[in-house]
Amino acid sequence: MNEETITSFAGTMRGPVIRRGDADYEEARKLYNGMIDKHPRLIARCADVADVITAVNFGRDNKLDIAVRGGGHNGPGLGSVEDGLMIDLSGMKGVHVDPVTATVRVEPGCTSGDVDHATHAFGLAVPFGIVSTTGVGGLTLGGGTGYLTRQCGLTIDNLVSADVVLADGSFRTASATENPDLFWALRGGGGNFGVVTNFVFKAHKVKDVFAGPIFWDAAQHGVQVMRAYRDFLPSAPEALGSFVGLKTVPSMDPFPREHWGKRACAVISCFNGPETEGRAAMAPLIDKLPEPFFNWMSTMPFPALQSMFDPFFPKGLQWYWKGDFVNELTDEAIDAHIAHAKNAPSELSLMHLYPIDGAVHRTSKGETPWGARDATWSMVIAGIDANPQMAGRLTRWGRDYWEALHRFNQDGAYVNFLMDDENEGRVEASYGANYARLAAIKAKFDPANLFHVNQNIRPHH
Ligand SMILES: Cc1cc2nc3c(=O)[nH]c(=O)nc-3n(C[C@H](O)[C@H](O)[C@H](O)COP(=O)(O)OP(=O)(O)OC[C@H]3O[C@@H](n4cnc5c(N)ncnc54)[C@H](O)[C@@H]3O)c2cc1C
Repeated sequence: MNEETITSFAGTMRGPVIRRGDADYEEARKLYNGMIDKHPRLIARCADVADVITAVNFGRDNKLDIAVRGGGHNGPGLGSVEDGLMIDLSGMKGVHVDPVTATVRVEPGCTSGDVDHATHAFGLAVPFGIVSTTGVGGLTLGGGTGYLTRQCGLTIDNLVSADVVLADGSFRTASATENPDLFWALRGGGGNFGVVTNFVFKAHKVKDVFAGPIFWDAAQHGVQVMRAYRDFLPSAPEALGSFVGLKTVPSMDPFPREHWGKRACAVISCFNGPETEGRAAMAPLIDKLPEPFFNWMSTMPFPALQSMFDPFFPKGLQWYWKGDFVNELTDEAIDAHIAHAKNAPSELSLMHLYPIDGAVHRTSKGETPWGARDATWSMVIAGIDANPQMAGRLTRWGRDYWEALHRFNQDGAYVNFLMDDENEGRVEASYGANYARLAAIKAKFDPANLFHVNQNIRPHH
């Protein structure tokens, strides 16, 4: 590809085309996960849908590997590609709330914090994840779990329609009534089917919530807390989203100094309703358990909860991810969790079990590609640290921990918790019986697998 071709491409774009050597190239290529260091040949920072169409056509016609970047949070850095074209949507940040229909139109560069900010003014929220800097694009297309999941379902269960630029550069709207096969595939099938330029979501009544973390001493009470949480969850009201995690008390204010650096078992919860009801919902769990290190549940605006953990996870940390879907948390599995979590190589490293029960179970397995409607939790093990020299230790710990736990779990995992070093069958296992239909729809909309920089579904012709 010569200079003239690139200049002519840049001339047809409303947003900038950034190349190696440009002053803003280094910043523009950076991803959230500091462990990933990719150098795309070109970064097309799209300003609008026309730019996306131009970029897709240019990438395809010039045989470039194409990556699509929303929030840039993907674990293995699938929002970028070595020596190819990054279609960067991060500048497309419009959010339009319709309070009458309780729907929200969201452009693909938005983070969940962008949407929470816009919806909160109307007393509404869309179920997204637990860190507000995460991109709506990748999170939604993979499924989307968070505090509101038990009550309102996965993010994809709240997707009403999506606008998509396909591999041939054509534009489609996908919904239950328009291109329903494409709409089905988008709800969990990742970035395999095209570039989404607009999402429309159903929003729910959420304003102030009774929420926050409770940390117990893992060494003394971890087994007891995890067992009590497991037994409590099925009878907890669905307005209570609550996950359990094994972590370390951060050695910083405002954490109590006497507990800095200690291993902790945390239950982090959000009750969508008044504090009195929230306290009553938590009581059957808390009343059974010993005194925690601290209990910081209080009433707060929903966006404050959504951004509570942002300061601990700035862009550029080293991350190594492993996940699994979990049906049952046996006593034996809990013992294995406690044994491996205590060897965490850094204070930030963690294990979380996110509930995927309640409303998630009311959608049948075949209704969306998300294959684990029968699971109870989505497990993530993440080795995390600021120091790049820790990369090897974070990876080894994540793999060892996962190896010890996988025998208790399903074969597949939430695709947004996979790195790119999984074995061949893991993506397939993550979709289970829905994989074959995904592969057929992939063959219809992207027969040459133009969009392959993702947790790839190979077209089945
Ligand atoms: C700190 C942190 C917290 C997280 N918490 C949660 C959580 O609570 N719940 C949860 O479900 N997940 C969570 N995740 C995982 C998250 O869902 C994935 O990392 C997801 O890939 C992030 O989306 P993104 O747009 O930021 O990613 P990007 O890196 O920008 O994109 C990832 C991939 O998504 C696809 N993609 C993105 N946008 C589009 C688009 N518009 N059209 C087509 N394809 C697109 C592409 O294939 C791309 O390769 C978390 C991740 C991090 C780092």
